[in-house]
Amino acid sequence: MSEENKKKIYLESLIYPLFVKQGLSFDEPVESMPGVFRYSLAGLKDKLTQLNNLGIKNLLLFGIPQEKTWQGETAWQANNFLNWAISFIKAYYPGFKIFSDVCLCAYTQHGHCGIIPQGQSQLDREATLSALTEIAVSQAKAGADFVCPSAMARHQVKAIRQGLDRAGFREVKIMSYSVKFASNFYGPFRQIADSSPRFGDRKAYQLDYQCKEVALARIEQEIQEGAEIIMVKPGLAYLDIVYQAKEKFKAPLAVYNVSGEYALVKLGAKQGFWSEQELVYELIASFKRAGADYIITYHAADIAAWQIKYEQQESAIIQ
Ligand SMILES: [Zn+2]
Repeated sequence: MSEENKKKIYLESLIYPLFVKQGLSFDEPVESMPGVFRYSLAGLKDKLTQLNNLGIKNLLLFGIPQEKTWQGETAWQANNFLNWAISFIKAYYPGFKIFSDVCLCAYTQHGHCGIIPQGQSQLDREATLSALTEIAVSQAKAGADFVCPSAMARHQVKAIRQGLDRAGFREVKIMSYSVKFASNFYGPFRQIADSSPRFGDRKAYQLDYQCKEVALARIEQEIQEGAEIIMVKPGLAYLDIVYQAKEKFKAPLAVYNVSGEYALVKLGAKQGFWSEQELVYELIASFKRAGADYIITYHAADIAAWQIKYEQQESAIIQ
């Protein structure tokens, strides 16, 4: 591959995750992830202007409430900060495509991804599906282009698709976290959303990393249920799944280059083990080679800035 091809990354294929937190008067840096913040209202506006200027096209938005409740009902309130942010972006930055996270773990006191009846310790499946559907519909009303269920609840896509259609949002699409492995790589993310389970773990609904067949079956099921884009999460340790899913189903596929992967790049760069930029290009190339159409990555803003620099150098050479 030529040097030029190696350096050209299409920003249409990148999705930049953004965290908005209700009630902040300033942006909170995430200690484990240099360059990543939980944004306040004012900070969000500045960040959007910066991302717009960089040419970022796609945003994946996560909401963090001021207070958590047992059932997490803030998650589907029409006027919660996430829904407000979606409407704001659609009104003032219509060039961005909005992907919004549909889950409960940042909103529930117990930190699990679904509804647990008071006094119990098990998820209620039906109640979880209807809560996820309500969240998705509230985000569609706010203006989301893609709703992105990440709870790993069985038949989450079917329930949400039916809910969206019933509410008149046929044009709103679903990017589903079809295959979300119970991974050690999520450590830094849980610090962002303060969403670690207070008891038990997520192994009952996230996938065992040894189970390839279960992963592929889940992807197939979610495509049939109406997922427009399927997702594999995390990326690096699961490129075999990305490759096989792409070969087998030929559906639009996203890979989530997760918080722990990002933190490793940053830590190594700080130690002088590698050039951050060179390593990020190598990683992005591996995701694409495996078959990813979209890459959700915290590096997206840096990549966009490197692209601008690269293009400026190119045009200086031509002149
Ligand atoms: Zn969750």
